[in-house]
Amino acid sequence: MLPAYFSLPFTFPFPFTRPMAEKTIFQKIADREIPGDIVYEDDLCLCFRDIAPQAPVHLLLVPRKLIVRIGEADPVDQDLLGHLLTRVRIIAEQEGLAEDGFRVVINNGKNGGEAVPHLHLHLLAGRPLEWPPG
Ligand code: AMP
Repeated sequence: MLPAYFSLPFTFPFPFTRPMAEKTIFQKIADREIPGDIVYEDDLCLCFRDIAPQAPVHLLLVPRKLIVRIGEADPVDQDLLGHLLTRVRIIAEQEGLAEDGFRVVINNGKNGGEAVPHLHLHLLAGRPLEWPPG
């Protein structure tokens, strides 16, 4: 019997290659292929201003590694997810958000309002935010 990869037509006749996945819009920002108003970056993540802000301050914190959404995060990404959460304090202090407060939001899937399938934390600040959200 042939190995399983011989049954996958998209790999034939190069069974050790995979089609290149299209970059997400956030990967393109990270790679400087499209512009982004970046306020923070390190080797694991970057943070930039949302192009359609829903509050006076609206930032997106994105891992460089593609994690599609929080509901599909793998335990192997535990350290990266912790890194993202601990960057929130650094960015909030850097951007002067800490004193008045802010909200961190992760939209997940259709009913969660997710539009970009690349995990991102929204940091919203600069006005009182209502609860519950709509
Ligand atoms: P979500 O609905 O949680 O997936 O959020 C996606 C967010 O990405 C939205 O708030 C968009 O306004 C934002 N967005 C989409 N394209 C860009 C871009 N090129 N630069 C900055 N923010 C973007």
